Amino acid sequence: MGLCRRRRRSRCSIISGRGRPGWCGWAISATRTPTPTCLFRGARKRRSLSRWRNGWRSATTMLLRRSPEERRPWMPELAEVEVARRNVASWWEGEAAAEVRLLDAKVLKKGSERELEEAMLRPLVAMRRRGKYLWAELEGGWAVMFHFRMTGKISCETTPEPRFARLAWRVDKAGWLTFKDSRRLGHVEVLAPGKLERYDALLRMGKEPHDITVDELRDAASDTRQLKSALLNQGVVAGVGNIAISELFWRLQLPPEVRCGELSQAQWEALVEEMPRYFDEVIERSMADEIAYMNEAGGENIFEVYGRKGEACPRCEEAIERVKVAGRSTYFCPACQPPLSA
Ligand SMILES: [Zn+2]
Repeated sequence: MGLCRRRRRSRCSIISGRGRPGWCGWAISATRTPTPTCLFRGARKRRSLSRWRNGWRSATTMLLRRSPEERRPWMPELAEVEVARRNVASWWEGEAAAEVRLLDAKVLKKGSERELEEAMLRPLVAMRRRGKYLWAELEGGWAVMFHFRMTGKISCETTPEPRFARLAWRVDKAGWLTFKDSRRLGHVEVLAPGKLERYDALLRMGKEPHDITVDELRDAASDTRQLKSALLNQGVVAGVGNIAISELFWRLQLPPEVRCGELSQAQWEALVEEMPRYFDEVIERSMADEIAYMNEAGGENIFEVYGRKGEACPRCEEAIERVKVAGRSTYFCPACQPPLSA
């Protein structure tokens, strides 16, 4: 029984001889790409060159297809990142890691392995979050930024190498804190002293939903723009994502395609008031030792309308519909959220 050539740390004993000799099933399924289904130029040719059967999807993509949301990648929103921040802070705060293991070199996007150790072996000052960004501030001005992307998460384990572990560090009081990522799209960045203050995405980010005022929000959004695309822009307000928008619009009875100029002063005020309340509620409902993404096996839908096309509206029992606005699905109730001009 050999080791998987693609993924050295794989403990998978089933080494496939088909297609990719010496690769384990996990490595094969993780690197398969779906065949194109649209007929863009060259698609026919590519399809015939494809080694996979037409329309075939990897196991991971099949899992995504089962989700109520269309096959779009799932990204963590403010609430999930905040849950992760609180968890990691409770496990790690006030201590230095005793040991760091980089299990997959690809996870480290910025900085070297030596720098990662240099940073993580220092005592943690604080776990911080801004919008959907999460980072650890360590003594001496070092920082480690975690990007979860689609399936990344940090959990507390008894062993350093649970399934999908990519980076692990041991904290005496808690155990092994592990950055896990089944799709290997997330990554970690090490920021040397002084670099956090110059981190571009943080500098460009708007205020948090808990801090923004009505005037600030209205000034940042131009009248002709759809409110949804304004809220999705992290430079306007930080951390508001696609799910939050469906839920907020339903709560405030705003139509999905509403433009910023159509909102009354009272509606702007209601929006600014509802945003922090919504996030506080979702954070409270999502608190668990590990963040659970809705598209994962066993993930549950905790939202009122998001991902509930065809189900009854909790307010009026009309069937929830889905429409694409700003390139992303918005779920809404046609009875509770009629166009404002009607
Ligand atoms: Zn309704």
